[in-house]
Amino acid sequence: MININLTGKRALVTGGNSGIGEAVVDALSDAGADVAVNYISHPDAAGAVVERVKAKGSRSVAIQADVSDETQVAGMFEKMDSALGGIDILVNNAGIDGKAGRAWELDTAHWKRVLDINLTGAFLMSHEALRRMVGQRSGVIINMTSVHEMIPWSGYAAYTASKAGLSMMTKTLAQEAAPFGVRVLSVAPGAIKTPINKSVWSDPGGLADLNRKIPMGRMGERAEIAGMVAVLASNVASYATGSSIFIDGGMTDFADFSHGG
Ligand code: NAD
Repeated sequence: MININLTGKRALVTGGNSGIGEAVVDALSDAGADVAVNYISHPDAAGAVVERVKAKGSRSVAIQADVSDETQVAGMFEKMDSALGGIDILVNNAGIDGKAGRAWELDTAHWKRVLDINLTGAFLMSHEALRRMVGQRSGVIINMTSVHEMIPWSGYAAYTASKAGLSMMTKTLAQEAAPFGVRVLSVAPGAIKTPINKSVWSDPGGLADLNRKIPMGRMGERAEIAGMVAVLASNVASYATGSSIFIDGGMTDFADFSHGG
């Protein structure tokens, strides 16, 4: 029988107080998990998410930390250990798309900042998590990449490089951790309506242009990503590791060819 049951599992979601991360916290706790909510700003939003989890009877705690800062990441895991007693599921969701601009127009500090958060941040988190998961011979890490691990995106070299790098990090960590009962996966969303892309979906012209790139003709909802994260974190996906699961309304399915060619 299929049963997405995460009761007793201890999860940590980075950037869990907004957008897709918030929906992931909801989905994991709907499935019974205890969930720690990492955030960097807006503690009020983090507190509201924590209260929602607790209302379901699961344990929850908000932990402020910058995922790109090694000391803060170590502190976050110490808090996780003392609040929830360890970790079974890590969702590396925190990310930024950064300023738009062609490579020669942006300063190099911009490149570094995007890579520090999206790629190094996920590595620092995985480094701490794997030490615990390998020791206990179980665990799941899910990295939020993007269709831009595969699709180039003019103006966003740092973002696309960070997501492609994160995808390859997933595959390599999956190889390393598989013998120890730990699975590592990527979820690659298409265009999902969240604060990160508000400038696009709040502009009718921008939205129409975006929808033309998607065979399903619409943006995705946060819950359509979060549900898959819960499935992948559960034993339903016990044989899945190392892959990127694209959830994109067909965006990577050559939308232009929907209309002949
Ligand atoms: P969002 O801006 O709502 O969420 C990003 C979260 O990351 C926020 O909570 C933010 O505070 C947090 N964050 C940023 N820097 C951080 C840091 N240094 N330390 C800790 N937290 C930090 O946007 P979202 O759309 O929910 O994005 C979530 C993830 O999904 C990102 O990795 C993004 O690249 C990815 N993604 C989003 C889409 C989309 O269409 N929305 C598509 C593909 C991939």
